[in-house]
Amino acid sequence: MNPEAEQFGAVVLKSRSLAADVFEREAARIPVTPRRLQTTMPRPWAPDVRQADQADRPIVSADEHDLDATVVDGSFSFKTLAPRFDRLGVHLGRAAWANVVELHSADMPTLATVFPTSIDDVARVVARWPATESVHVSSEGLTVFDSAGGQTHWWNVPTGLKVFRTWATPRFDASVSSAGRITKRLLDILGGPERSRTATHPEMILLFDEVSKAASRSIRADLLYGKLKKFHQNHDVPTKNVLTYWLQRGVLAVGLQVYCDECGQENWYALDELSERLRCTRCLEHFTFPGVSPNKKSGWAYRPLGPFSVEGHAHGAFTVAATIRLLQSYGSGRTTWVPSVELRSPGGIHLEVDFALF
Ligand SMILES: [Zn+2]
Repeated sequence: MNPEAEQFGAVVLKSRSLAADVFEREAARIPVTPRRLQTTMPRPWAPDVRQADQADRPIVSADEHDLDATVVDGSFSFKTLAPRFDRLGVHLGRAAWANVVELHSADMPTLATVFPTSIDDVARVVARWPATESVHVSSEGLTVFDSAGGQTHWWNVPTGLKVFRTWATPRFDASVSSAGRITKRLLDILGGPERSRTATHPEMILLFDEVSKAASRSIRADLLYGKLKKFHQNHDVPTKNVLTYWLQRGVLAVGLQVYCDECGQENWYALDELSERLRCTRCLEHFTFPGVSPNKKSGWAYRPLGPFSVEGHAHGAFTVAATIRLLQSYGSGRTTWVPSVELRSPGGIHLEVDFALF
């Protein structure tokens, strides 16, 4: 048979209520050739067999809208988009249409934007009143079922940890490990994995490590500027941008390195700690600010703060942050991630995971 001719034949599908013999007898009466009889329904819901079943899944969409939501105390609200044909419909609580909700945020790096379909009760993750919320995870994402003109929904901001915990339950109870807290803090300060590129570069990790071991736990301002400038191929603009961002976000603080008159060791003082009389953090003696030759005995310097000052490469936080960023860049831009977590099963299994990402 000519394969092209076959395309114009008929596929006769058996309905579930029909007996096999009745189906074959009646199908034989349909005056179309070629004719193929099929007793199973195509499975458009199963992506892996859609092609084999020739079941294209059509997507019917009535409208699309971007909404700005303001988060107050961890919650926000939005109104669902109703299709025009249904605005006056009365359905007595039955859903008539669905909205797919995609979440984005420029300043909430821990916001979950991907939800595994195996989470049965996603309402408990996102809804402020889960019992009354009809939301499910479909292959499209978070899908809200609604009717008539739509309604206002109150949701809690879903974090990566909350999504991961719900996904792991009841097999495991998940909690952030102490290393995970450092990673989370590091990424919070940097404004998310996608903004961690410079800080998590191997050269910078080594630099932060070096500074964390220095007696004054600080680095001369001109030295850091030079290293950052070299890192940015000798361009001043990106160097200044990174430094400004780091100072704004609290990666670093600017202060003064001062030599102690008593022990000769270097100290670092924040701007608001400077005064005529200083106390040496090394020998604990008081000494007078070197007013005679301040340029020789002091110099502007940056001190890394918080996770950036933790020895041992911030307990691996830099590596985890860099890995999450790299994997995110391979994804569609939407990910849900958690920093290092500990998993405990009711059966006594205890696991530690460096990070998890959907
Ligand atoms: Zn001293």
